[in-house]
Amino acid sequence: MAVLGQNAYHTETVKIAVKRRPHVNYFLTEEQTMIRDLAAQIAREKIAPRAAELDESGEFPWDVVETMGKSDLYRVFIPSEYEGLGGGCFEMCLAVEELSKACGGIALCYAASALGTIPIILFGSDEQKRKYLPRLASAEIIAAFGLTEPNAGSDAAGIKTTARADGDYYVINGTKQWITNGGEASIYTVIALTDPTRGVRGSSAILVEKGTPGFEFGKKENKMGIRASATRELIFQDCRVPKSNLLGKEGMGFLVAMRTLDQSRPGVAAQAVGIAQGALDKAIEYSRERQQFGKTISSFQGVQFLLADMATQVEAARALTYAAARAIDGGEKDVSRMSAMAKVFASDTAMKVTTDAVQVFGGYGYMKEYPVEKMMRDAKITQIYEGTNQIQREVIALNLIKESVRGAARAASGGNGSATAKK
Ligand SMILES: Cc1cc2nc3c(=O)[nH]c(=O)nc-3n(C[C@H](O)[C@H](O)[C@H](O)COP(=O)(O)OP(=O)(O)OC[C@H]3O[C@@H](n4cnc5c(N)ncnc54)[C@H](O)[C@@H]3O)c2cc1C
Repeated sequence: MAVLGQNAYHTETVKIAVKRRPHVNYFLTEEQTMIRDLAAQIAREKIAPRAAELDESGEFPWDVVETMGKSDLYRVFIPSEYEGLGGGCFEMCLAVEELSKACGGIALCYAASALGTIPIILFGSDEQKRKYLPRLASAEIIAAFGLTEPNAGSDAAGIKTTARADGDYYVINGTKQWITNGGEASIYTVIALTDPTRGVRGSSAILVEKGTPGFEFGKKENKMGIRASATRELIFQDCRVPKSNLLGKEGMGFLVAMRTLDQSRPGVAAQAVGIAQGALDKAIEYSRERQQFGKTISSFQGVQFLLADMATQVEAARALTYAAARAIDGGEKDVSRMSAMAKVFASDTAMKVTTDAVQVFGGYGYMKEYPVEKMMRDAKITQIYEGTNQIQREVIALNLIKESVRGAARAASGGNGSATAKK
């Protein structure tokens, strides 16, 4: 992996700026340590001071995106031949985790661009990559990913948006709902039916640029949490897009979506770990200051045990998230299960730990003057988007059963694994 470029935000000071390290050694390379520390510094200096204000206003944090862009943070998961730093899912997770400690919403502006960029990295032609990746790497533009529709959430196969072929163009009609970075992003991967008669097998992934006639945005959603991120409808009415914008081949839309989500879910897990760690840090700090019965509340065993459980859960979530990201970057074939496990465990942890953080703060934790109620609101979405945790548990179970069936077939065939082929 290449090193962070000349533009890196305060590159000189980054190496020494962050004293706090996780207690567990995750064997980060020097470059990975720099990425983590750089993201931590941006989180501390640029995000934390604005988190509460942007949570209230819901304004999109373009100034922070610009800082992250100038600091090369958007390059970390983009291949070096397209002006990235050549890292992968793991480097993206390190950045998302640190940003999320300060604000899950602002971190999502970064993570959702990664979600929109992954299909181009995985399925784009060299021409498509040359056209978009360098600009995404510098954050001159950001990306988004549009799969969900009003009547197709968990049941993504139920999408109705169509992309009818017309000469050298597709004509797109339909509505995508709750698209993160919607309206702010310049490039969208849209999953649409190029052959509605074939259902999900007739779906395709098509790149659509903002500003294309017939492509409009709905109102910005007013959300419970992650309020600094933008969530909007994508509305297509006879939107003509050149066929050269197709990612992969026609009929591969669902595959593009599922492979993309497999690779991006550790990013949601990292967001959850970051939010949970941020809440834990605040809870520890507060417990050392707040006095009741003439003592700091950190001296009470009831509070100590709460903090101990919170810290243990966060570390376990981090370990699983890093393992999933490393499995993806290591080129493991079947990553759906690991990716889903990381997302489920980390997001459930974030919900629990942020709720417990509010408990440690007592009544003050329930007030907007203190940061933990926002963290609890921000954590909730990680159990819902990129596939709800119910659906992720289904993915995990189906993979377990499939692996068990394969194992049984291998055993029956004397261990050479070719039982099906023999039949
Ligand atoms: C803030 C936000 C940002 C988002 N960003 C994006 C984005 O950028 N791009 C994008 O494409 N989508 C995005 N989404 C959509 C998100 O991925 C969906 O909301 C999610 O997949 C769930 O779909 P749904 O909300 O329609 O819930 P539903 O599918 O209606 O589910 C409702 C409930 O039923 C449960 N359920 C459904 N089916 C089953 C089943 N078979 N077994 C057990 N339980 C089941 C669910 O787990 C859930 O609890 C976003 C959503 C939100 C809220």
